[in-house]
Amino acid sequence: MEAIILLGGPGAGKGTLADALKKDSSFIHISTGDMLRAAVKEGTDVGLAAKDCMDAGKLVSDDLILQIIRTRIGKKAADAKLMFDGFPRTIEQAEGLQTFFAEIGGTITHVLNLVADPEALIPRLCGRRTCKTCGAIFHVVNMPPKEEGVCDLDGGELFQRDDDNEETVMNRLEVYKTQTAPLIDFYKNLGILHDIDAGSTAKNSELLALAALNA
Ligand code: ADP
Repeated sequence: MEAIILLGGPGAGKGTLADALKKDSSFIHISTGDMLRAAVKEGTDVGLAAKDCMDAGKLVSDDLILQIIRTRIGKKAADAKLMFDGFPRTIEQAEGLQTFFAEIGGTITHVLNLVADPEALIPRLCGRRTCKTCGAIFHVVNMPPKEEGVCDLDGGELFQRDDDNEETVMNRLEVYKTQTAPLIDFYKNLGILHDIDAGSTAKNSELLALAALNA
């Protein structure tokens, strides 16, 4: 089993890049944020355990995250290609993933580190809108839908995520700096980190990411 990891602060464009890469590759997209939001919506035990942390912009416990990752990957074929988005988020999660992959014979081939100016992330997040039905991501200024509030792809209603408000966004940026940014050195030391400039358009990030994956 092979995997790539999309690393980057909130709003750096991990979800948008994941959607683009999925279109012309065989990656299975694994977003812990999407999995947790689905669990909250369904009211499962995982959702109940995660909701308060998510609303506050804090991280959900490493044990819970590693457990949902193991469950999600457990049934995948040995030749599956995974794309992690929003995982790992802490050194403990990265070490847990190393242990898990050692057990199942998995390899992390690339870590794409989306580099963006933190100042630019706040307006990106506060203007983000997501389709209720298909999860496609838009932005009121940078990537507006053709019709306000309506998804271009399936006509679904666009909504603003509960945690995309200014106060929670500030917490998420702080959490990224203290808990997630140390992963940059972790993966640099493994020789698999590729910096991707995420400061301009989504299309540009996609081209840079494809170049890094094919190099
Ligand atoms: P973003 O990257 O835009 O902040 P995500 O959708 O990846 O958003 O995550 C939303 C929230 O879900 C996070 O703020 C956190 O509470 C929780 N979460 C998602 N993935 C993880 C993870 N790997 N570890 C801990 N918490 C997570």
